[in-house]
Amino acid sequence: MTTTSKVQCTKCAKNAGITTCDGCLAKFCSRCFIVHRQDLSKELDNVVYEHDILKQELEMPNKNNSHHSLKQIDEWKKDSVDKINQLADQCRTDIVRLLDKNKNQLTDSFRKISNRVRKGRDDEDYDERDLSKWMTELKELKDELIQPSNFRIEEDKHRPPWIQKIRVTEEFHNQAKVEDGKW
Ligand SMILES: [Zn+2]
Ligand SMILES: [Zn+2]
Repeated sequence: MTTTSKVQCTKCAKNAGITTCDGCLAKFCSRCFIVHRQDLSKELDNVVYEHDILKQELEMPNKNNSHHSLKQIDEWKKDSVDKINQLADQCRTDIVRLLDKNKNQLTDSFRKISNRVRKGRDDEDYDERDLSKWMTELKELKDELIQPSNFRIEEDKHRPPWIQKIRVTEEFHNQAKVEDGKW
């Protein structure tokens, strides 16, 4: 018996390889080749599955809030609004505290004027100069009550923007590396 050096089947390494798969270039015996085709057929099923999923997604209309980029915008908006709300709350608290402080001081001053007016009236001891002085002082207190001078609201121009502005930029490139009908 002469042994001709046959190329072995890549898969089983027992039988002679009689068929070469063009795809992977492996040599198969006839039995292993059938198995190889069955394996490829299973992989095709995976491709078809991915294909169908993508098809469904492509056919779905773009709804608001469905895409993650839209969610990203929503998150930015929520974060920014939260920041504004927090700062507004903090400023309101500060203002209420300063208004209270101002009012306490005004109440003190008012009590002093009030005493002088009452005393003047009780003692019948006043003239035009007192009346005018009291009136001026009362007006000043009233103005201070309406327009307190112990604080002001100002824009903080020295710090970098506190809410980062965002924008959407279109990118131009080939969307997917899909070859168009190459075979
Ligand atoms: Zn084989
Ligand atoms: Zn193959």
